[in-house]
Amino acid sequence: MNYENTHHWLNYIDGEWVDGERRLNVANPASNETFATVALANADDAERALASAVRCVESGALTSPRPAERVRLLLRIAAEIREVSERGAQILCRENGKTLRDARDEFIEAARYFEYYAGMADKLEGVSVPLGDDYVDFTRYEPMGVSVQIVPWNFPVSICARSLAPALAAGNAVVVKSPELSPLGLCVLFQAIDAVGLPKGAAQLLCGLGSEVGAHLASSSKTNQIVFTGSVPTGRTILAAAAQWATPSVMELGGKSAAVVFPDSDRAQVLASVKSGIFFNAGQVCSAMSRLIVHRSIHDEVVDSVCNLARKLSIGPGSQDPDHTPLISATQIERVLAMCDEAIAEGATAVTGGARVADRPGHFMQPTVLADVHPRMKIAYEEVFGPVLSVIPFDTEDEAVEIANGTPYGLVAGVFTRDVNRALRFSRRLRAGQVFVNEWYAGGIETPFGGVGLSGFGREKGQEAIYSYVRTKNVGIRVAQD
Ligand code: NAD
Repeated sequence: MNYENTHHWLNYIDGEWVDGERRLNVANPASNETFATVALANADDAERALASAVRCVESGALTSPRPAERVRLLLRIAAEIREVSERGAQILCRENGKTLRDARDEFIEAARYFEYYAGMADKLEGVSVPLGDDYVDFTRYEPMGVSVQIVPWNFPVSICARSLAPALAAGNAVVVKSPELSPLGLCVLFQAIDAVGLPKGAAQLLCGLGSEVGAHLASSSKTNQIVFTGSVPTGRTILAAAAQWATPSVMELGGKSAAVVFPDSDRAQVLASVKSGIFFNAGQVCSAMSRLIVHRSIHDEVVDSVCNLARKLSIGPGSQDPDHTPLISATQIERVLAMCDEAIAEGATAVTGGARVADRPGHFMQPTVLADVHPRMKIAYEEVFGPVLSVIPFDTEDEAVEIANGTPYGLVAGVFTRDVNRALRFSRRLRAGQVFVNEWYAGGIETPFGGVGLSGFGREKGQEAIYSYVRTKNVGIRVAQD
């Protein structure tokens, strides 16, 4: 297949690129123009992929050789991803609306996940359990088997690699379900995987509707694990399906994360963090800084500087690497605008933004800062998934903690202060899987990530994540004494 100028993309099942009876259009969010199609997998394709994954597991193709073989496979995948990263970034930027710079970063991060977990593939060591002279007892880590991984559209390539790399490192066979709104970057990622020549069924890609292919994969008795990254409502549907076979699941869901800003904070750090925290990827980030909880004594000053920042952001298609890019779809921008309108009707003030960018095709929303937000307004506790920052004042530390923790979510949180004791106090009191001090997104692929409450459960990233992809088996041996 000549991948350059490809307008129609395929699914990857049982080691082959496979077409479908139906096609899905892929549009550029910056212009709203359809520029490619992808074969739409159906429930039969899902069943064939599951059967192939089961054959791979039962053959022991990934688990019988020494783990050093998997180390080499993962390193080769990483090298192939680096090879395709420029071409992949161009396609990801076009289908997703994100900047070319961020699309490149996604592919490089994907390669890093494979390098990182390659380093763990041959270090999954069990323990010896002392039971006296009459027994030898030990544990060993075994792969889950068939790992179904359902991916969202906001960072499809890096989120896919975040689960696929540790799953393969641990010896699982993986079926990936790509997102309808941004499937092509994953086709490029799988071209890199295809080039390595994994055992058939070890890694497969299906682009299908969530309600059809996703639902089929989640409810199948052949599925031994579900790794879902996406919204809370879909997570609930998948958990209900998983209950049927008691299928273990990792749930990486939404967030409504808050940064608490104290008067002794470094304002340059606060502003840089606001820029990346809420305006990166047009705010379509699960761990976005969607609330800024500011001490009342500096509230007006901080609102002024944050609004100045928002107004100065350059806006354009991702191909021009601006500061601010379009939202993914018409539905998404309508949803975000409706949430802003509702907040304004309830008494919030759009100090800047709150509307579409005029005179542009595509789904461009103005970078928005809302003040006069009350913690009981929907905008203060529901995920927006757009470039909208809600600012809420506080007077005391206890009040700041209460507001920050006052949503059903708990993905990440942040605190900005020069007082190390206060920073440590807040790191304990904030209800979140990860706490950033003086820099939003402090961390990397090496740091464990995941939520509490409606943000989900299970951990991805870091050494800890590989244990999401194995089960512990205990082996006890009675020893004869004569
Ligand atoms: P979504 O829930 O609409 O879709 C996610 C995936 O689920 C898609 O591939 C979709 O096709 C599939 N799906 C839909 N219905 C399904 C069903 N019934 N059964 C099985 N699969 C089904 O989410 P989205 O709009 O793609 O992504 C945005 C959401 O993802 C936000 O809430 C965001 O916070 C969350 N997210 C979380 C993380 C994290 O790591 N915690 C990372 C990125 C995004």
